[in-house]
Amino acid sequence: MTARILNGNAIRDQIYTELQTEITALGARGIQPGLAAVLVGDNPASKLYVNSKIAACAKLGLASFLITPPATISTEELLAIVADLNRRDDVDGILVQMPLPKQIDSKRILDTVDPSKDVDGFHPENVGRLVAGRPKLVACTPAGVMEILRRSGIPIEGANAVVMGRSDIVGKPMALLLLHANATVTICHSKTRALAETVRRADIVVAAMGRAAMVTPDYIRPGATVIDVGQNVVNSAADAERIFAKFPEKIEAFRKKGSVLVGDVHPDVVETAGAFTPVPGGVGPLTIAMLMSNTVRAASLRRLHLAAEAAHAER
Ligand code: NDP
Repeated sequence: MTARILNGNAIRDQIYTELQTEITALGARGIQPGLAAVLVGDNPASKLYVNSKIAACAKLGLASFLITPPATISTEELLAIVADLNRRDDVDGILVQMPLPKQIDSKRILDTVDPSKDVDGFHPENVGRLVAGRPKLVACTPAGVMEILRRSGIPIEGANAVVMGRSDIVGKPMALLLLHANATVTICHSKTRALAETVRRADIVVAAMGRAAMVTPDYIRPGATVIDVGQNVVNSAADAERIFAKFPEKIEAFRKKGSVLVGDVHPDVVETAGAFTPVPGGVGPLTIAMLMSNTVRAASLRRLHLAAEAAHAER
């Protein structure tokens, strides 16, 4: 049996088409949603992520504002930048790219972002709303996983779902979204006993650990849906050859580039799973799509609400 591949690029394109209609409707009311990205210092991976987010804004016709303070910035100075973005009416979404330099109090920065502009869904108010089942802005990667499951017709209600990883940005919100969609959810982490046995009970597995190819076929119940959030860069030829023993084209690509992107799920799982997301081209594209979606949503909620208040004041 070979698993159905859940194509993240195709689902992203579907979402972009739908967003385009909303963006055009907002444009007709004189509103252009805008996203501000704060990129501190010059971490190459962060630069790459932020550039793809800015490129997505350009593709969809959203305004984007890139703020690039030096790595030496203090917490107070960064707080002032966020406060300024909070005040600006042309900024609907604010993202502060993580990780921040060591001297910065990251929690204080994230807590200062106006919850109505918190398009990453990291602010405690948005986390609390998610816990309470009244979400407004939800963390992009888990929201993207839900889009993949729903748009691929994977049944969630009543399913046994196992989330591997309990981080604030992926594992925890993922588990809550699945729970609210009526799955029976188990959350695993580095202290979980009998991990493979627990994961084997799952109809839906979401792997978000940052452990290259750890989830081997013996973790997977035949026919299960496997969502691979992990993004790990493998630089060792021996590792690449071991992981991709059955995929010569990947080994060839490794030889050309000197590295290869590997998920948390072993590629051989394709022989056991019923459906799975590839890496790259699975969850990754959805993370940016949901950031765009959150920005448009934040603009609609904030500006149409403001417009309604202004109309009220005029009367
Ligand atoms: P974190 O490092 O914050 O969290 C990892 C989680 O996995 C922790 O809860 C940890 O447990 C758990 N874990 C680690 N090792 C094991 C193990 N051997 N067995 C069971 N559980 C384990 O990572 P993130 O949540 O930020 O990211 C996870 C992965 O997802 C990374 O590869 C990251 O690159 C990727 N990612 C991909 C995105 C995308 O767009 N596709 C977006 C965001 C992340 P414990 O809590 O006990 O330490």
